[in-house]
Amino acid sequence: MTAVAVIGGGPAGLMAAEAAAGCGVTVDLYDAMPSVGRKFLLAGRGGLNLTHSEPLDAFLARYGDARPFLTPMISAFPPTALRAWASGLGVETFVGTSGRVFPKEFKAAPLLRAWVRRLRELGVRFHPRTRWLGWEGADLLLQGADGTMLRSRPEATVLALGGASWPRLGSDGHWTGLLAELGVALSPLRPANCGFDIAWPDRLSRGFDGAPLKNVLLRLGERSVRGEVVLTATGIEGGAVYALSAALRDAIARDGSVELIIDLKADLDLAAVVERLARPRGAASLSTFLRKSLGLPPAAVQLLRGFLPASVLGEPHRLGEAVKGLALPLRAPRPIAEAISSAGGIALAELEPDLMLRSRPGLFAAGEMLDWEAPTGGYLLQACLSTGRWAGAAAAEYAIRVGPPRSY
Ligand SMILES: Cc1cc2nc3c(=O)[nH]c(=O)nc-3n(C[C@H](O)[C@H](O)[C@H](O)COP(=O)(O)OP(=O)(O)OC[C@H]3O[C@@H](n4cnc5c(N)ncnc54)[C@H](O)[C@@H]3O)c2cc1C
Repeated sequence: MTAVAVIGGGPAGLMAAEAAAGCGVTVDLYDAMPSVGRKFLLAGRGGLNLTHSEPLDAFLARYGDARPFLTPMISAFPPTALRAWASGLGVETFVGTSGRVFPKEFKAAPLLRAWVRRLRELGVRFHPRTRWLGWEGADLLLQGADGTMLRSRPEATVLALGGASWPRLGSDGHWTGLLAELGVALSPLRPANCGFDIAWPDRLSRGFDGAPLKNVLLRLGERSVRGEVVLTATGIEGGAVYALSAALRDAIARDGSVELIIDLKADLDLAAVVERLARPRGAASLSTFLRKSLGLPPAAVQLLRGFLPASVLGEPHRLGEAVKGLALPLRAPRPIAEAISSAGGIALAELEPDLMLRSRPGLFAAGEMLDWEAPTGGYLLQACLSTGRWAGAAAAEYAIRVGPPRSY
């Protein structure tokens, strides 16, 4: 007899399985994909930013409105505990210059391998290629790879199905329909930490797909972020854009579009930029002149050429103003399938403090499918692991205390 079923084998589900099995209950883990942790492995390609080393108070502030909800879970399994947990799996971590925490090897695969091994030792039974389709009465309805329908009636269930970014790795957001049918309130899944489309002017050459602009400053209202922006054929992406992406996305949803200001020479003030631009250009082309006088890369020059009339390009003060604050017209976030994470999901008010759905006794949820969002920097994995652990332990406790559900 299954005591706890965990559906979804991403970081949240694997951690839920570990916590539940650690409480001594039987755990079955189902995942639609042939293997678990596919998005976790993809995160490893970027070095696997596991968490962040900043003080807990500053750390928790990254979750915005969801902070009060997540505080008990993250405080119970904070960044220091996450690092100790990774170390227990043989993966030592270090703090990078930005304060972000990475495995020393910058890889996810060794951690995932050791983790799955530990789960098997704890008795967790893995059921890959098994898709959860909903309920039939009190039974979970699952479909195996060959199309066979399976039914299971665990004492408690943890859903850890992820958001809807990178659906080919397994999390396709299909669960939103299943929970909406149950009457669970959801906030629509939306792209988070994502790029944006820009209506590039016709005269702008599109040759810069993937060109980075390093150390620029982005401004949106009172907020500014320094970092890297990558120009793509459809618009912009990159760390500095992701940091503002929630505010940009919400502004576009509200107003239809938004102007993002980019400072292409953040290290110099306007007067210094204008002074350099006023120097004699001689026979140098605009590109050569801007490269030599301000160190602007070709992509920055293309941006200026694309957005500014020729009269401005020849006038040091107005050109300087544009270098220090070019308005980029953003018209839409890139599709959620391309985003790093998802905003939206199960409304937090639907959940008991132990992550059980108020309306569905014995049904718990964790990870990115809950309605919180956070910037990149390790905050995503930390919240997935902390909520997974919390939900797994609570599900095990429920299974021991209450027993199987009668019906959904
Ligand atoms: C390119 C990229 C890089 C990233 N890098 C980082 C990083 O460095 N640091 C960081 O903190 N975060 C990073 N993230 C985000 C992080 O990977 C996610 O937030 C995290 O994986 C979400 O965990 P989860 O367990 O909630 O969901 P997921 O990892 O999405 O797992 C959900 C699981 O549920 C399964 N599933 C879905 N539906 C069903 C169903 N009906 N039946 C059965 N199984 C189902 C899926 O197959 C999947 O295995 C990155 C994301 C991307 C896309």
